[in-house]
Amino acid sequence: MIFCNNSSIPSNNLRTKIIRHGDPIKLNFGGFVPLSTVDWRGRSVCTVFLRGCPLRCSYCQNEEIQAGEDWREIKEVFEMIDSSLPFISGVIFSGGEPTMQKEGLIILAQYVKKLNLAVGIQTNGFFPDTLESLLSKELADKIAIDYKTTWEGYSGTIGGYYPVVKDNYERTVLKSIGICKKAYEKKALDEFEVVFTIFYENQEYIMEISKKIGDVPLVLQQGEHKMPVLRNTASEMTHGEYIHNKRIQQEEHPPLKLNEIKEIAEKLDKPIRIRTRETGEVSYAGHRRRRASRKR
Ligand code: SF4
Repeated sequence: MIFCNNSSIPSNNLRTKIIRHGDPIKLNFGGFVPLSTVDWRGRSVCTVFLRGCPLRCSYCQNEEIQAGEDWREIKEVFEMIDSSLPFISGVIFSGGEPTMQKEGLIILAQYVKKLNLAVGIQTNGFFPDTLESLLSKELADKIAIDYKTTWEGYSGTIGGYYPVVKDNYERTVLKSIGICKKAYEKKALDEFEVVFTIFYENQEYIMEISKKIGDVPLVLQQGEHKMPVLRNTASEMTHGEYIHNKRIQQEEHPPLKLNEIKEIAEKLDKPIRIRTRETGEVSYAGHRRRRASRKR
């Protein structure tokens, strides 16, 4: 859907507010997609990518912005958003890890809200304080937490900021889920979802985590193996052995198909949305739940 937004002329006053002590706020910038109809169901949005991420997931699609620097004045990002105004009803902040740049993200979200657009955040959940601040200021309409399982090798340190140990991540992501869940239940957050990227290897983890996080909207997203650098989780192998094993694994285990993911969803026994490359997004209520609702 493409529609015209009435707030297509941003105010200069809004921009001057972000100059602090004479120095403009800068952001470590990762990229910009001016128009997307797939990143937020039911909306056309633009997507701002912020650079830097403390995790190192084995299948990361945005490896090139996990680290490095590209500092831009925030007004440059405002201008990018402005350029999409005639076509969008919201802005997604993604990364890298957008919540890592708390101050800049909050200012961006304030800018977006003042343009009467919706704010969506895609996060790995590692910075609950940022989520709490956004929610307390009513600056987020949608939060999608991408929950990384230990299998995904998120603790890699190569080119990273600092080693992220398993307990640290689990503790912080669970805190983030708790914060968002509360806001969602109180209707202070319109849309909330926990997303698992699913491979044949991490199904068991997902079962465990799903029990731990309770009743939250879940998405199972079809994962696709890359040639990852899972050095922390495969430290006993040489690099050559690792690459060889991984290649075999990729050949033997292509991405799970919709029906296979539905089988996993069935075991989770809760309403789930499933995203695959082949079919896009579908809702899955599960046989058991459907049977139970027919009996009522
Ligand atoms: S959380 Fe993982 S997938 Fe997301 S940007 Fe960081 S390394 Fe990549």
